Amino acid sequence: MADLRRAPGLSAEDVSAAVRIHADRVHDFVRRLGCSPAAAVEVVETSALDLVDAVATAPGTVTDVVGWWFGRARALGRRVSGATQELPLGGGVLSADQDQAVLAEALEVLPERERVALLLRDSYALSAPAVGVALGTDAEAGMETVGRARLAFLDAVGDEDVLPTAGHALQLGVLARLGEGGAVAAADATARRHAQACAMCRSVWDGQARAHSMLAGLTVVALPEALRDGVLGRVDAQARAYLPSSAELLVGEDEELLDEAPSRWRVPFYALIGLVAAAIVGTVIGLLLSRGSSGGTSSAPPVDPGVLPKVTAAPLLSQSPVPTTFPTLSGNPSPTVFFVTPSPSPGASGPVTPSRSGVPEPATEPLTLTADPTTGPNGGAVTIQGTGWLPRGTVTIDYLDPLGRQTGSHATATVDARGRFTTTLSAQDPSNLPGRHTIRATDGTQTASATYDAQG
Ligand SMILES: [Zn+2]
Repeated sequence: MADLRRAPGLSAEDVSAAVRIHADRVHDFVRRLGCSPAAAVEVVETSALDLVDAVATAPGTVTDVVGWWFGRARALGRRVSGATQELPLGGGVLSADQDQAVLAEALEVLPERERVALLLRDSYALSAPAVGVALGTDAEAGMETVGRARLAFLDAVGDEDVLPTAGHALQLGVLARLGEGGAVAAADATARRHAQACAMCRSVWDGQARAHSMLAGLTVVALPEALRDGVLGRVDAQARAYLPSSAELLVGEDEELLDEAPSRWRVPFYALIGLVAAAIVGTVIGLLLSRGSSGGTSSAPPVDPGVLPKVTAAPLLSQSPVPTTFPTLSGNPSPTVFFVTPSPSPGASGPVTPSRSGVPEPATEPLTLTADPTTGPNGGAVTIQGTGWLPRGTVTIDYLDPLGRQTGSHATATVDARGRFTTTLSAQDPSNLPGRHTIRATDGTQTASATYDAQG
């Protein structure tokens, strides 16, 4: 349902990226539905242009971009290939290895609707809502079709390990989901408990898993290299001509992160204000001298808190481990230098350098962010580790889909005194988009990314 809200806000870049990501799959799809090589390329391009048109003119009808595109390609492909049903599909499409030929031929004997369900869900790893849209139904009914199609597929490849289930009430959609592994939805928990104890359901569940993993290994027949750039370029141009750019749709989410930063500094800042006030009272003459020498800029920041956010937000200063300057201050007769530190002005150079070289700082490691594992199923648990982050700061981690959008999955971690942290992120993408997801971490001043390749 989230897709209902998202579709109308799609930018040209979103649609272009979705087309780039799925172009080879759509091509493979229509080839396996019986399109000739030339017809398949034409269907890919025409259906993608239709997608741009639909997003531009009737966004409410595009509840799932990817599902819509596959559904459109399916309809166009059927029209084009309808006359030539004798076309050799698997054998003609794939001359590769024996396993691939077996898969392709088993797919061919299935009714079109079941073939479509298996390709979309198992071979291309589309989300359940996308499969539902492409099949012209909803996500739940789509998964039931997937479950039924997998049983027919096992039959076609000669797998006879699934027990007869005549007369038994199977929850095929649930078993289809369970067979894919991954996190179990709360709504599926009861059926799962039953299936663990019921031999019939258990054998169907295992069969779902076998079919799913076999079909996931299907080789995708990519768009011909020579035509690829042309097709993608024309779709991209159309998207830019008719859809708003992402800049026009963007809400500045990064601003929030910067706004958070000052609050973290406020406490030490006011503590320092006290020190500064004492120093000012004690050394009025010295202060006047220092003000005279540096033209007033160095003394202004301490009495103007409004300056502080600017200081903490400046990216160039992000690497300066501010907390470590506190020891400097305690041993330093002139606290006012702290406020000069951020200023790159030459007048402040004298007192600045000691804070970086003269005091014991935490071991400065390079800024890193690593994910382990870097590939796995949607919903997998990923260990995130970092070095070189702001000591004792908080790192916020977001999980972004292949189109760069928030998935809603995130984590936070507390950085230790050496700038390191470890935490766990659930790589959960509700749209179940396959491919490279971005894990983005920030401590308010520094940002780094890692990736997780979701296998669907
Ligand atoms: Zn049962």
